[in-house]
Amino acid sequence: MKEVHVFNAGPCKLPQPAIDAAIEGLKDFAGTGIPVIEISHRTKEWEAVMDETRALWKELLDIPDTHEVVFLGGGASMGFLYAAMNFLEKKAAYLETGVWAKKALKEAKGLGEAYAVASSADRNYSYIPKDWECPTDVDYLHITTNNTIYGTEIHEDMTVPVPLIADMSSDIMSRPVDVSKYDLIYGGAQKNVGPAGVFFAIVRKDALGRVSRYIPTMLDYRTHIDGGSMFNTPPVFPIFVMNQTLKWVKAQGGVEAMYRRNVEKADMLYCEIDRNPLFTGTAAREDRSLMNVCFVMAPGYETLQDEFLRFATERGMVGIKGHRSVGGFRASIYNACELSDVRALVACMKEFENLHE
Ligand SMILES: *Cc1c(COP(=O)(O)O)cnc(C)c1O
Repeated sequence: MKEVHVFNAGPCKLPQPAIDAAIEGLKDFAGTGIPVIEISHRTKEWEAVMDETRALWKELLDIPDTHEVVFLGGGASMGFLYAAMNFLEKKAAYLETGVWAKKALKEAKGLGEAYAVASSADRNYSYIPKDWECPTDVDYLHITTNNTIYGTEIHEDMTVPVPLIADMSSDIMSRPVDVSKYDLIYGGAQKNVGPAGVFFAIVRKDALGRVSRYIPTMLDYRTHIDGGSMFNTPPVFPIFVMNQTLKWVKAQGGVEAMYRRNVEKADMLYCEIDRNPLFTGTAAREDRSLMNVCFVMAPGYETLQDEFLRFATERGMVGIKGHRSVGGFRASIYNACELSDVRALVACMKEFENLHE
């Protein structure tokens, strides 16, 4: 196979051992002689996978007993609705740090009063708003910890006077998180913990049941906590691959080790962006994401954009074209991205510089 370096924003690169185990599971799941996609979810072999997956989440993120983790279909976009459906009684505040945050806010507006407490839309979401105060009269504050499209990230767990809800689609498991600070953490699996087709939610159990609206059975987190994420047929294959991905995270030394690797990779790439006269970063320095590194051609070199994309593609770089709303380039360097992948991209940038400087 051609040597490639995958920087896709999502679905993302997954660890090779997880891919290998997935292939094995498609041939013979847990010695049953049946492909994992044909197994009944009511078998003890499958229940063992569910139990182990939950246990891995709890261990890796040090999730306290007050919280439960569930795995559901529908993607993070469905998670937007779940958040409002289960937690919004009257009013909610959203920190508008990008398009995903805006979409989450839109879902809440359909169920109650919801507004952006601050926004960085004025500079195309290239920074995290700092100059705002968390209201005290809301049911919750919703944040998006990593803004996948713009390459900005909230690096610390916030302390706020109201329940905190976070979309962590693209930085979950990339760093340690103090789960006790959140009433809800959710996200799509396909950015850092598995393939598309499943989303995760870590829910503070005693925060549920406080809204007076009717919640449809499938949209009620209590249904899925009580049912162990098996009220109905779960997304079996995505969960199976997520299980294998989390085992890999654990074998690497857990989330602390992931964090150290991620800092090293991000430092290497940002360092080159800052050094190389042909390129410039788009996100505010203090808010730079460890997961999605966005950059454009520096002033005076704009016309080289297409040429660099071709140049990098020829050298095996995959998925570095920036999102259309930012332009330029975006390298997504999630957990499974290796230091050697980043090194290859940096080498490519240097080589391109030598051709044009
Ligand atoms: C990708 C993404 C989403 C949407 O995820 P889906 O699973 O496609 O619905 C939401 N929030 C963030 C931060 C994302 O990166």
